[in-house]
Amino acid sequence: MNISRRDLFKFAGISAAAAAVSGCTATTGAAPVADLNTANKMLGRHQVVIIGGGFGGLTVAKELKKIDPKFDVAIIEKNDSFMSCPFSNCNLGGIEGVNLSTLTHDYSQAIEANGYGMLTASVTGINRAAKIVYTSKGSVGYDILVMAPGIDYNYKGQFPTWDAAKIAKARRLTPAALVPGGEHIALDRMVKNMEDGDVVITVPAGKYRCPPAPFERASMIANFMKKEGIKGKVIILNETAEVAKGAAFKESWKELNAGVVEHNDNCKIVDVDFDKKVITYVQTVFANKDDTVGVATTKTQKYGIFNFIPHNMSNPVIEMSGVATTPDGFKKVKMATSAEKPVSFQTATDVNVYAVGDVVGHAIPPSGQSAIWSGKECAKEIAYVLHGKSYSVASALPYKSANVCYSMVNGNPEEAIMVNHEFMVAGPVIGSKGSVPKGDTVNDKFRSTGLGKATRDWYKGAMRDLFS
Ligand SMILES: Cc1cc2nc3c(=O)[nH]c(=O)nc-3n(C[C@H](O)[C@H](O)[C@H](O)COP(=O)(O)OP(=O)(O)OC[C@H]3O[C@@H](n4cnc5c(N)ncnc54)[C@H](O)[C@@H]3O)c2cc1C
Repeated sequence: MNISRRDLFKFAGISAAAAAVSGCTATTGAAPVADLNTANKMLGRHQVVIIGGGFGGLTVAKELKKIDPKFDVAIIEKNDSFMSCPFSNCNLGGIEGVNLSTLTHDYSQAIEANGYGMLTASVTGINRAAKIVYTSKGSVGYDILVMAPGIDYNYKGQFPTWDAAKIAKARRLTPAALVPGGEHIALDRMVKNMEDGDVVITVPAGKYRCPPAPFERASMIANFMKKEGIKGKVIILNETAEVAKGAAFKESWKELNAGVVEHNDNCKIVDVDFDKKVITYVQTVFANKDDTVGVATTKTQKYGIFNFIPHNMSNPVIEMSGVATTPDGFKKVKMATSAEKPVSFQTATDVNVYAVGDVVGHAIPPSGQSAIWSGKECAKEIAYVLHGKSYSVASALPYKSANVCYSMVNGNPEEAIMVNHEFMVAGPVIGSKGSVPKGDTVNDKFRSTGLGKATRDWYKGAMRDLFS
């Protein structure tokens, strides 16, 4: 089963030359239609195949090779370069020395440093019975599969009456920029070329990637507008009343961005006229905590730039695998639990299939730092299995500061806020408890320049973790 370093690179070479098969085939048992095409020939078989070269997938691959260099590990990733979502708001904010290339990394550096293989291709189907992953460039066999494909947007679930053309327009004209790739470039172009006018950011209900991200984005775009002398507001239409790191963000908006950042609770988007640049939404105002009905008013909002963040869901790769998911709109992967291993990154459905990153059904924040922590633990579980032993993630818990997440709120001076999560066993899943400390205890403020520096240091450290 083990193959040499030379073969690992050959694997990448073969894939690059292979012809592409278009379309997306959901397969859990029978061979998909694409498999009949000669282009979907068998490219190789590996001990561990990881879908997704993001925060979770890169960590699992690196850790496995660290634990045992003889492990035969290959990643399947659709993009040919990596773009970081973390720190991307600092790019929008015009933070000194940060640009799109700060966020972009080539995979060859990580492959060279860690010795795993990588196939640049899109996963189009999974046959768990035959232990095969189908891709746009051919099929790949596995002994153990790790799914780390991140999130997708659920426009269809949120707006059932919208047709494909309207959803395509939403993706193109009002990029959500929550997934790595071109959307960050599009939003960067819009912000960097903006004229006087309002920027609107929506915050979805339900589980979504990096809960503080839309609020950090509001602070950073406001920072950019201040720096460039652009007149207008950053208006947040939040579908709920929840604000991650709420007291800390609200303190900074009041003191740094008064009259510019405007946060609105309980705003449900009803429709968007992308030609006229008008959002229609219903805002519900509740009299008090016991009022569950409230008073709903339909309103409209014009925008110059719209960062339209819709409901999130697990990437379709999860559905392709056919593993059990939670019945909510997000469809989190149900994780295995047993007396011996109360919490795990193994899926509840298939002992040979694991999941890490934002798709997991654990009660932990969907963040890059959580994905790195989870990736390390998942690699340990798999390494023990491959060595014929057993490892319980519960033995690592409780774990203090498993997720530390910074948000830049000011550019001059650079100031940030933070949240710190401890992870613990919480019944059949990993749970978490967060706290938002004051960064500047002398002046009794959440934000501080020390946390501003820590934001830069965290990003550098995370990129070092993934790429060296
Ligand atoms: C604006 C913003 C700011 C953020 N800031 C922070 C922060 O400060 N700190 C922090 O910890 N987290 C932050 N996050 C969250 C972090 O980006 C995610 O939680 C993290 O990326 C999740 O890792 P993942 O491995 O699950 O998914 P990803 O990192 O998205 O990786 C998934 C990979 O799978 C690939 N893929 C998807 N489908 C397929 C397919 N069909 N075939 C092949 N490959 C596929 C994708 O191309 C991608 O490379 C931020 C997110 C955003 C949007």
